[in-house]
Amino acid sequence: MKNGTYSTFSFSASEERINKLINGLRIGILLKGPKSEILFSNKAALEMLGLTEEGLHEKSFCNTKWDVIHEDGSPFPEDQYPFRKAIETKRTVRNVIMGIYRPSLKDRVWMQVNAEPLIDEEGEVKEVICSFSDITERKAVEEKLTSLYQSLESRALELATSNNDLQRFVHFATHDLQEPLRMVSSFTQLLKKKYEAQLDDQAIEYINYAVDGATRMKKLILDLLEYSKFSSNREVFTQTDMNKVIKDACKNLHEEITDNKVELDVPVLPVVRGKSLLITQLVENLIGNAIKYRSERKPLIKIRCDENEDHYLFSFSDNGIGIDKKYSDKIFILFQRLHSGSENNESTGVGLAICKKIVELHNGTIWVESEEGKGSNFYFTIAKN
Ligand code: ADP
Repeated sequence: MKNGTYSTFSFSASEERINKLINGLRIGILLKGPKSEILFSNKAALEMLGLTEEGLHEKSFCNTKWDVIHEDGSPFPEDQYPFRKAIETKRTVRNVIMGIYRPSLKDRVWMQVNAEPLIDEEGEVKEVICSFSDITERKAVEEKLTSLYQSLESRALELATSNNDLQRFVHFATHDLQEPLRMVSSFTQLLKKKYEAQLDDQAIEYINYAVDGATRMKKLILDLLEYSKFSSNREVFTQTDMNKVIKDACKNLHEEITDNKVELDVPVLPVVRGKSLLITQLVENLIGNAIKYRSERKPLIKIRCDENEDHYLFSFSDNGIGIDKKYSDKIFILFQRLHSGSENNESTGVGLAICKKIVELHNGTIWVESEEGKGSNFYFTIAKN
């Protein structure tokens, strides 16, 4: 055996050392003769093919027992085997993927195979070195990823379809239902006006219920429209002065604030990065709720802000009726309300669901800490980036 030179260092390549080197490799190596006879195999090749040395020399890749297949599951024709191609073309064949059935282990392994022809002085292929690595695990992971990706894709498609259906439904509910609703409401009121003298108290009470029902349904439809508009919001993120936000929200709630003699305790607030119209809507909902769910006490709303490393934490506390702790999470779900029905005809359970969406759009979270009868503290964060 000659001494070999490799790059910047040389080594003495005794046959024993070469054998150790080849058998220590985790790549299978087969040396094949021109008639596909196996002349040499390393240890890894035997292990990967599930063979003993004696067994190997009785077999070849041409043996149909190997039942070789392509990645798509179709049979791998013998004349396409890499070593045959290498003999035929006298060129190196690289990275051919073969699914090989191992008769002794009764399983299938996936190999990535290369074949290198060794050409003699007459230009004929003397031998072919086949090297291969076991990629079964890699393929299993790839297959799992592909199937995960496919199921994600179909899930996304399902979601997009149901989202479109939902949008269509909301469009129908909010636009097409308004007209018949208006008719129900105005004709029952007309009925009351025209026949009030002829109707008894119970009939009038029933008509009032019908008018109330129609008014409530109108409010629900408008709130639902507001909620559905959220997904098509195109407002951009800008520097949003929270002092102006509070001012605008209070302007919109002017009547409620003056009618109920609401006291607002607000310090100087920071400028945040956000969608100012949406943040105004969020603040308006929180102040509006603090007034709507006021107690006997004179309404007092305290707004505070703490600056943290990556977010601002706002709190809106009121001295209203408060919320039972067990409903703290529920109230942020669409149509969930605690103080409902005749008690509060204004209540639809949409406001806080919109607040949650707005806060999440600003990479924040919203929650409430409250005790029934003792007021509520609503908290939300707005990310700095
Ligand atoms: P709505 O006020 O239309 O019912 P929201 O989503 O704004 O819808 O509120 C959901 C529920 O949470 C309300 O029905 C109410 O019971 C409760 N809630 C919200 N804000 C307050 C508050 N500040 N104090 C007490 N209860 C509140």
